[in-house]
Amino acid sequence: MTKVRFAPSPTGKLHLGNVRVALFNWLLARHTSGCFVLRIEDTDVRRSTSQAEETILEDLRWLGLHWDEGPYRQSERLPVYRKYAGELIGKRLAYPCFCTPEDLERERKEQISRGQPPRYGGRCRDLTEEAKTEFRRKGREPALRFRANAAAQSQESQVRFRDLVRGELSFEAAGIGDFVLLKADGTPAYNFAVVVDDALMGITHVLRGEDHLSNTPRQLLLYRALGWSPPQFGHLPLILGPDGQPLSKRHGDTSVSRFRNSGYLPEAMAGYLATLGWSPKNDKGLLYLSGLAEQFSVDKLSKSPSIFDQKKLTWLNGRYIQALTIRELTAACLPYLQAAGYIRIEPPRLAQLLSSVQAELKTLAEVADKVRVYLEQPEPDPEAKAVLQQPEAGRVIAAAIKQLAGFQELTPENFPQLIQELRQELGVGGRKLYQPLRAALTGCLHGPELVQLFTILGREEIIARLDKRINIT
Ligand code: GLU
Repeated sequence: MTKVRFAPSPTGKLHLGNVRVALFNWLLARHTSGCFVLRIEDTDVRRSTSQAEETILEDLRWLGLHWDEGPYRQSERLPVYRKYAGELIGKRLAYPCFCTPEDLERERKEQISRGQPPRYGGRCRDLTEEAKTEFRRKGREPALRFRANAAAQSQESQVRFRDLVRGELSFEAAGIGDFVLLKADGTPAYNFAVVVDDALMGITHVLRGEDHLSNTPRQLLLYRALGWSPPQFGHLPLILGPDGQPLSKRHGDTSVSRFRNSGYLPEAMAGYLATLGWSPKNDKGLLYLSGLAEQFSVDKLSKSPSIFDQKKLTWLNGRYIQALTIRELTAACLPYLQAAGYIRIEPPRLAQLLSSVQAELKTLAEVADKVRVYLEQPEPDPEAKAVLQQPEAGRVIAAAIKQLAGFQELTPENFPQLIQELRQELGVGGRKLYQPLRAALTGCLHGPELVQLFTILGREEIIARLDKRINIT
């Protein structure tokens, strides 16, 4: 059975890059009726927070990326890592390293100044028992390092694997320095914890960002050292901003929670993210998770970076909003309406308002602004005021009030008749007729079509609004 995982570190918010990784793993699990594991990689105690973890879980639930197992937390599995660290010590493939952060930093700088790639030089690799005892007597807590060199030398000089996205890859084994397995405080380093977990959890496929590519040869050496067979790896190319640079803070806030809070639909996010690095076939209009899962295939993942285009996402969001039923739209818009203070709108009225603005919404957050004109009479802005102050405006408004008395109900069908009668009575049409009415009703010179305003506001409300603006000075 396919078993995949999403393994976020709760040190900050989920960004588009991480969540695309989550999505592709989830799609692979669903496509193959496999298992999607959620694992929280919280071994960096100083930077991990439970708040960040909570937000990550909320983001995933919101997107509909439900997990079948977990969340496991690495911080709760420390004895497991220690056990396998012990095994590597037993095989003489791990050794204590007493170097201080300052020692390591000095070594790093020297290597860089000599033009060498920085890597651990092996100072503690062959310490005598006396030297170790001496360090311990001084109270130095050692980290545990992997004898990567020895592990690599007993194999071939290249670490090779077939990446699901990029094909055959090979790395110079000699380039891999002895890396840390357990830090001095006893917590596992990423490369070690991830291998132990992926192996023990039976992970069969690891799809992750290309930024982890250089970790993979290290992890493969650990698999060999522990006698485990590795999963298949697939490294997804980066997501770039419109300027061609890797997506980062400079491109604005690209956290999932920001999109969640600013009126994007989870369906639109998933539908859009699926196109970053994959080209789902889309001949039936909008794509949803189930349709994406049905056609997901690792073979179709792209090797080249994709560009995040916020305008396209927003446009697509508008299309997903249009596809909602009124019930769904109401539920989705409610928090935004409530935040704007619109708490008590009768359900039939709300449904009417929302269906009249649905086609204009690009994000749900725009809903309060769009319906405001139907719920309150805005004060005229300077342009509208100037129109209303002209003497003809008063005539138009008075005539409209008079004509409206003859209409029981306003409908899109009888609205042209109202306009026709006004035109005849006043001898004016076009802007001279529409502008004063619009200015009085909405307080500005643009906005919804008059027919829409009249029919949604209804006769009573129209008369009341016109009355208020008839003699403006
Ligand atoms: N915790 C790692 C990260 O958030 C997971 C990397 C991996 O998938 O192996 O980048």
